[in-house]
Amino acid sequence: MAGGRNWIVIGTLILAICVLGCLAPAGDQAEEGKIGVIVSILPQVDFVEQIGGEHVAVTVMVPPGASPHTYEPTAGQLREVSKAQMYAKVGSGVEFELAWFDKIRAVNRNMLIVDCSKGIELIHGADEHDHGGADPHIWTSPRNARIMVENICAGLIEIDPEHEAEYIANRDRYLQELDALDVYIHERLDPYTKKRVFLIYHPSFGYFAAEYNLTQIAIEQEGKVPSPKVIQDCIDYARQYNLSYVYVAPQFATQNAEMVAHEIGGRTVFIDPLPLDYSATMRSVAASLALEMEY
Ligand SMILES: [Zn+2]
Repeated sequence: MAGGRNWIVIGTLILAICVLGCLAPAGDQAEEGKIGVIVSILPQVDFVEQIGGEHVAVTVMVPPGASPHTYEPTAGQLREVSKAQMYAKVGSGVEFELAWFDKIRAVNRNMLIVDCSKGIELIHGADEHDHGGADPHIWTSPRNARIMVENICAGLIEIDPEHEAEYIANRDRYLQELDALDVYIHERLDPYTKKRVFLIYHPSFGYFAAEYNLTQIAIEQEGKVPSPKVIQDCIDYARQYNLSYVYVAPQFATQNAEMVAHEIGGRTVFIDPLPLDYSATMRSVAASLALEMEY
């Protein structure tokens, strides 16, 4: 997906930004006085707003419904980048960042870059030899979310030391919320000792599974449409472990997931790996996964 064509696109976008920038009337900035923060994915919007409150104006690059594995930014988004003071990247190898980050950086060399994955141990899959990549979905573990929040807080203090006390108070309040979330998920899932496995279309909950001692079985592997053999293996596995649900993200096509669900006499269940309301959504994820484990 990277390569020469993207450079032509980016050149055109940069030109468009310059033209728009010159034509934009003065005083159109409703967000004047706020710190412009760019993030890659929706959960980071929640994290930055929890800490920054009224002092930040956050722009997300991968919008609701889009996939961070394939998304390409628009000219309007790059214009926001050109005005921003901070970019909080996920940093774990999300394809959007691998393909676009250098070009985004070229639009604004003055932004503070915060790597949210700093201090998080990445999980490497069994079949990484093809791509050499780690599982990028670090944010699905609330303990990792804690570290991401701490990294974001440090970045905001660096940009705006005047409000340091407020950012630290906000951070500590939100870390307590994340701790309560962690306790809730344990309470919701720990009682089930017989079946601690779930079948999912896109493998976005690997860090969640590792944190709560669950096994995630993915139908889609390495972003490829599953082969008939992989699908059959998943069906066999589901029958062996008496699984009834195929978990799917709203952002990804579900035809194959529906087919597997039909074959095992079960159904698909949505769990959102890219929530804007992180804490509430992760609670509902735990409740959804409990459906599979509680009988
Ligand atoms: Zn993903």
